[in-house]
Formats: sequence, C-alpha cells, structure tokens
Amino acid sequence: MSAIKNSVLWLTGFTAMSKPGQQFVKMMNKRGGRGKGKHGHSSLRIFNYHRVLPGRPRFVIDAIDVQEFEQQVKILTSCFNVCSLEAAIPALQRGELPPNSVCITFDDGYRDNYEYALPVLVKYNVPATVFLTTDFIGAQKFLWHDLVLWAFEVTTMECMTFDELGLQDARLVEQEDREKVAVYVLEKLKTVTTARRDELITMLYDRMAVNSRPQASYMLDWQHIREMSDLGMTFGAHTKSHVILSTLDDEALEEEIVGSKKAIERHLPSPVTSFAYPNGRKDDFDERAKKILRESGFQCAVTTDRGLNDRSQDVYALNRTAAWERNPYRFYGRLLLEGIFNL
Ligand SMILES: [Zn+2]
Repeated sequence: MSAIKNSVLWLTGFTAMSKPGQQFVKMMNKRGGRGKGKHGHSSLRIFNYHRVLPGRPRFVIDAIDVQEFEQQVKILTSCFNVCSLEAAIPALQRGELPPNSVCITFDDGYRDNYEYALPVLVKYNVPATVFLTTDFIGAQKFLWHDLVLWAFEVTTMECMTFDELGLQDARLVEQEDREKVAVYVLEKLKTVTTARRDELITMLYDRMAVNSRPQASYMLDWQHIREMSDLGMTFGAHTKSHVILSTLDDEALEEEIVGSKKAIERHLPSPVTSFAYPNGRKDDFDERAKKILRESGFQCAVTTDRGLNDRSQDVYALNRTAAWERNPYRFYGRLLLEGIFNL
C-alpha cells in the first residue's frame, strides 16, 4: 500500500498544477473529500515553520528559503482558507470551520520572521501566529541548538572524540560530515537535563576549539513584535527558556508556561491564548502541562506531531504539518493527498 501511495504522491506532486491536476482538484472539491475529518466536519491543518531566510544557509535547522516560502503562501492563499489559529480553534470546536482551512505558525521567535516572512504574509494578506521563547526576545542570548550548530559551523577540527556523547573519531572535514555529527549531537543533547546539556555544550566548545559565539542578535525584539501585531500577526507562548516541559517539577513547569504568557502580555494589548510545546513530541509534555494551560487561560496548544485536526482532537495537543516540500508542485500535491488520506 505504501509503495502505491508513494507513487501516487510522487506523480501527483508533479502534475497537480497541470490541467489533469486541476481537474483532479475540482473533482476532490466536488466530492468534499479534501480536509474532511473522521466525523464529516472540516479538518484543520496547522503549518509549522521556524526560520525564513534568503538562500539555504547550512547549520541552520528548519529554515526555508524566502522565495520557497512565498511560493507556498501563494499556493495556500489561492487554494485554501488561511485563517488565524485563534479564530480557527473555536470554529473547529463548534463544527463550523470553513472547508480547507489552514493556519500558519512559526516557532521560537526568530528575527527573520520579521525581516523575511512578514513582508510575504502582508503581501498575501494572511495572518500567522508566532510562538515566542520569551527569555530570548530582545536579548543577546542564543538557543542551545543554535549554539551547537555554530560550533560545528566554525570549528577547524578535522576529527573529534567525545566519549560523553558517544563520539569516537568523528570526521569533521567536509560540511556534510559536520552536519551529520551536529544532528546526532542535537538529538543526544535532547535526552539530558538542562544543566547537563549546558555543561556538555561548554565541553563541546572546548573539545572543538571554538572560542567565538554567534555575533548578531538573531531573535525578535518587542518593537518587531508590536509592529507585527499591528499588521495582524498574533503571538503565542513557547515557554521562557525553551526547556522540555516533561523534565520539570510542578513549580518550574508553571513558571515556564505562565511566565512566558505574562511576559508577552506585558508588551501586547491582547491576551495570549495559544501555546507551542518546545520540541513538541508526545514525550515532551504531559497532563500537568495541559492542566496549567487550561487553568491559565490558554485556548489551545500545538505539538510537532504530524497530522490534521478534526473536531474530536484534543485542543491542547494539536497536530501540525512541517513545511516539508520545497518544490511547489510537490507541496501542492502532498497537501491534496494528505488531506484525502487524512494524514
Ligand atoms: Zn521551539
């Protein structure tokens, strides 16, 4: 089955914008097959972006080229109902979500969301929600994964052994080698406590003979955020420090969730009602986090689990879709087929 489906995905990826492709789209619209959930109501797809940058810089995770981003937004605005997350969730719960609804979200609060994504969003007149890691907003601080990537980008070491991370003579000569090792190290560091992770990153810099830190401020500041808010963008919380919530005790958990909400509300007039779990996989949050979210006025929370959301979906564990296709035709084809298969 998966071989057949993959073939169909591949084929449709290349033909969705052609004449037969357009006929196929019309047919699916007529049947109402696209975007319908298990219970016959419309389903919601929530896109998950991080960084939008010109070109394809290496040692940056989850970045999309600004031109590819514009192509995706163009497709979304021409074929789907792009709405704000804050408007979509109550409509989804009431069973009144318009067909083919999608939301656009960004995680972390990178400055490139203002510099490169915002002009595209304004051009196509679509809203988006940005989830802010509030301790990093307007601060000269770097998210831990960006610190790790920086070390791999600038190191001149050709080989590294780091027993604590299970690395023996890891080759660092070519960029591809370094990228592979960097991804491995990032995954390893997700499994340890914050204190141990920071300790290991310090050791990593030492082991890789890296003395520098990334220079420019690369996160949004509150002035950017106010300007984006004035242009129709909304802001959700993503904790204060980007810690994985399931690792925290009750007190720290509440401080990370409620503290990030209050920090944003000090700068913006509207209440913060949406939340994104750092890392966002099932093991990264638990019922304690959901309870705090419910009780502190959040209306919804998004994960990084893949899929659509129908009316029965837990609004404190909403699925999202990473912007996984760079080729616009394949992007469109996959949107169609994943809607049909309800993936
Ligand atoms: Zn994040």
